[in-house]
Amino acid sequence: KERAQNYTFQTEVNRMMKLIINSLYRNKEIFLRELISNGSDALDKIRLLSLTERDVLDANSDLSIRIKAEPEKRLLHIIDSGIGMTRNELINNLGTIAKSGTAEFLSKMQDAEKSGAQEMNDMIGQFGVGFYSAFLVADKVTVVSKSNADKQHVWESDASAFSVAEDPRGDTLRRGTHITLHVKEEAADYLQPDTIRNLVKKYSQFINFPIYLWASRTETVEESDADADAEDKADDDDAQVEDATEEKRETKKTEKTVWDWELMNDNKPIWTRKPNEVNDEEYTQFYKSLTKDTSPQLAKAHFVAEGEVTFRALLFVPRVQPADSFNRYGTKTDHIKLYVRRVFITDEFNDLMPNYLAFIQGIVDSDDLPLNVSRETLQQHKLIKIIKKKLVRKVLDMLKKIPDSEYESFWKEYSTNIKLGVIEDPSNRSRLAKLLRFHSSRGEEMTFLADYVARMKPNQNHIYYIAGSSRAEVEKSPFAERLVRRGYEVLYLTEAVDEYCLSSLPEYDGKKFQNIAKEIFDLEENEQQKERLEAYKKQFEPLTTWLGNKLSAWITRAVVSRRLARSPAALAATAFGWTGNMERLALSNAHQ
Ligand code: ADP
Ligand code: MG
Repeated sequence: KERAQNYTFQTEVNRMMKLIINSLYRNKEIFLRELISNGSDALDKIRLLSLTERDVLDANSDLSIRIKAEPEKRLLHIIDSGIGMTRNELINNLGTIAKSGTAEFLSKMQDAEKSGAQEMNDMIGQFGVGFYSAFLVADKVTVVSKSNADKQHVWESDASAFSVAEDPRGDTLRRGTHITLHVKEEAADYLQPDTIRNLVKKYSQFINFPIYLWASRTETVEESDADADAEDKADDDDAQVEDATEEKRETKKTEKTVWDWELMNDNKPIWTRKPNEVNDEEYTQFYKSLTKDTSPQLAKAHFVAEGEVTFRALLFVPRVQPADSFNRYGTKTDHIKLYVRRVFITDEFNDLMPNYLAFIQGIVDSDDLPLNVSRETLQQHKLIKIIKKKLVRKVLDMLKKIPDSEYESFWKEYSTNIKLGVIEDPSNRSRLAKLLRFHSSRGEEMTFLADYVARMKPNQNHIYYIAGSSRAEVEKSPFAERLVRRGYEVLYLTEAVDEYCLSSLPEYDGKKFQNIAKEIFDLEENEQQKERLEAYKKQFEPLTTWLGNKLSAWITRAVVSRRLARSPAALAATAFGWTGNMERLALSNAHQ
C-alpha cells in the first residue's frame, strides 16, 4: 500500500480557515449544518446522475445521512451515501477554494473585517461557510470517501496541512463519504445526542434525505419464556421464584436498552404538503433554513399551478435584499431551486425569474418536466418559459397582498425593483403599476396610483407629476405652484428611476400621465377661462415674440402660461423633449 502523501493548503484556504475560526468562535454549532448540507448536496448529485445513468446506485441504493457519536473517544461521525470523492477530488475540493463565489466571499469578508465583527457575522450568516467550519469543533478531521470512479481514499488534516492515502481497509463504504471529527475537549457537548438532535432540528430539519442518529432508547418488552435470556437463568434453581414469574407472565415487563438508527428529520418536502396543513412557524423555519436569513420572510406564497403545466411552488420575499443586488443587476442569478418530481435539479438556470424579481427565494417542483434529460436540454424545454410566466404572475399577486402594515418596509427595500419591472416587463406593466407608490403634494405619506385616481377632481383628466432630485426641490418648482394652489394633487418623483418608469407607463386606470415640467398642459376648466387665456395670448404677443427671438439660441418658443402663481417665468420642456430632470440624470450618468 502507498504511503500517505502530504499536501499544503492553498493560501486562500488558510485565510478562510483563519477567518472562520476568528469570527465564528461564538457560533461553532453551524459546523453540523455545513457538513449535513454537504452530505445532502452529494446525495442530490448521485440521485440526479442516477436518472440518466441507471447503474450509479448499484453499489448502494440507500440515500441517507447518518450521524454517530462516540463520546468516550470524542469522535463524531457524519456519513453520507452521496456521490463521494475521488482522490483528486479530495485534494482539490478539500484543499483549495475552487468556487469563485467563495473567493469573492473571502475578499468581501476581509473588507468587512475592517468594519467590525457584527458585519462579518451578518455576512457569514448569509453564506455557507463550508467544510472548513469542521475545524471550529475538531482539532483533527478525517474524511474517508468512495466515489464510483475511484478506490476509497482517506484525507486527514489538523488544519495546518493535510494528507491523502488509499484506504488500506479497502472500499468499506461502497459509496459516499464518512467524516470523522476528532472533537476538541471544549466542544465535547456536540457529542451529546440531545445537542445533536436540537441542531438538526434547528438547521437541517428540511433536508430532503433522511438524517439518522445512532441512538439508544429504552424499550419496555413483555417477557415470555421464549425470550427469557441468560441472566434470568440464574434464577432457574429457585422453583418458588420461577413459579411466581410463571403466574405474572402476562404483566412482567423488562426495560431494555436498544441501539438503532433514529430518524431526526421529517424529510417529506414542505412544499409537497397542503398549504392549510403547514403552519406559519414551519414556513418561517423552512425559509430560514433555505436562505440562512436570520429574520423571518416578509411574504410568502405556496401554491399548485395547473393548466398547461402543473407545478408546486413555495416562494418568499426576504425582508432585506443583498446590498450589492444592483451592481450585479442583469448578471445576478435568481434564487429559485428547481425540482422535478421531488428531485433537486438545479438552482443555476437563472431563467425562472426576471432580473427585477431576482430577490425572490423559493422552490419550484414540477411533475411535468422530463427527468432523464441533461440540464441543458431541460433548460431549453418549452415548459420552463410557461413556468416562469406563471411564477411572475404569482409573485405579483403575492406582493399585492402584502398588508398595509408591511408594505412600507417592502417598498423601502424593493421600490427600485418594481420600477425597473415597469420599464422592463411590458406584459406585466399594469400589474406592476398597482404596486407603485409615490410622494405627492397631498402630504408626507406616499400614495398608490389607485388612491390618487380616486381623489382626482371631477374635471381632471391627467395624473400630474413632477420629477426632481428631492422633495424640497420639486415642492418649490414653479410648475407645481398653481396646480397645488388650486387643489390638484401632484406626484413628486424623487428617485432617479421614477421619471423613466412613468414615461414607460402609458396610463393608469384609463388616466394618462402628465409631466407638468412639459408644455402640453390643459388646465382650463371652462369656456370663460379659455377665452381669458386667448385674450392674454393676444395681449402679450409682442413680449412672447420678442423673448422668442432674443433667446432663440436656448429656447424653442416663449408662450403665455397659466400654470404659474408666484413665479414670473418657468422653463418647460417640449412635449417630446427631455425635462430638466432627465437632462440632469443623463449628465450625471455620463460623468460616472
Ligand atoms: P460548498 O459546499 O459551498 O461547495 P464546502 O466547503 O462545503 O463548499 O465543500 C467544498 C467541496 O467539497 C464541495 O463543493 C464538494 O465538492 C466537496 N465535498 C464536501 N463534502 C462532501 C461530501 N460529503 N461528499 C462529496 N463531496 C463533498
Ligand atoms: Mg457546503
